[in-house]
Amino acid sequence: MRVLILFVDGVGLGSSDPAVNPLAAADLPVLRGLLEGRAPVADAAPFHGASASLVGIDATLGVAGTPQSGTGHAALLTGEDAVRMFGRHQGPWVPTALRPMVAERSVLARAKAAGLRVAFANAYPEELVERAAEEGVAGRRLGPLRAGPPMAALGAGVLTRHTAALERGDAVATEITNDGWIRHLGRTSLPRLDPPAAGRNLAGIARAHDLTLFAHYTTDTVGHRGTFQEAVASIEKVDGFLGGVLEGRPGDLLVVVVSDHGNLEDPSVQHTRNPALGVVVGAGHREFAERMVDLTRVVPLVLERLLPA
Ligand SMILES: [Zn+2]
Repeated sequence: MRVLILFVDGVGLGSSDPAVNPLAAADLPVLRGLLEGRAPVADAAPFHGASASLVGIDATLGVAGTPQSGTGHAALLTGEDAVRMFGRHQGPWVPTALRPMVAERSVLARAKAAGLRVAFANAYPEELVERAAEEGVAGRRLGPLRAGPPMAALGAGVLTRHTAALERGDAVATEITNDGWIRHLGRTSLPRLDPPAAGRNLAGIARAHDLTLFAHYTTDTVGHRGTFQEAVASIEKVDGFLGGVLEGRPGDLLVVVVSDHGNLEDPSVQHTRNPALGVVVGAGHREFAERMVDLTRVVPLVLERLLPA
């Protein structure tokens, strides 16, 4: 029994109008195939098909205001009611007060403590991780490690994939393809990958572990700053990536695609209070998806699946 959590930031279930919602306008052969012709929009959920389920995940957690990444990541990765704990939705980074919890009590740390093989598939530059290891999660120079997924990985001791791992296909760039690493970080030895090839690499990592986490954020940044066409392209990239994952996955893998709040589904505004995207693929998808009602439910469901009583 294996689980892959494929986190995509800022994707909610919105309108079925392709003039409004990039997820309704995009060419998504993989997701539409899983959803038997449906687009991942509000009207289509809940859906439980032969191989996959689509559900909306409550990201508001009963708190007023617009859900944000910092508290959302904390809730999603620890199963704790992080929004109430902090008192409000807060982002984009995990608030300092919640960092010890994310580092010490994430699903990665808990699965590892239970003896499971745990992987964080994202590659991060080695120099950044070395600095963070010296400073700890309260450090001032954490940069992108202030996001929940790498912070949880740092706390669990699995933020271990860097340039060499990316080069041999044993890690995946946060942006999916290696373009950013090649262009902005000067890692010219890295192969240029298309999204399906990166997805096959992620499937290989998931095959070698009980629990694998991968996190992607471009969907949220494009939702904030991109054009409608860029929003369409960003979800099409995720679709191609998911296709590669499914192609290379081991038979006992449950793929859990989750987001932390809405944004991309309505480029005319910033974050939304729409339910966050939840797609579950693999044996037992329905039982899992039906109970994934809000952000705090993901961790207990994953641990229950990996560590049956
Ligand atoms: Zn977010």
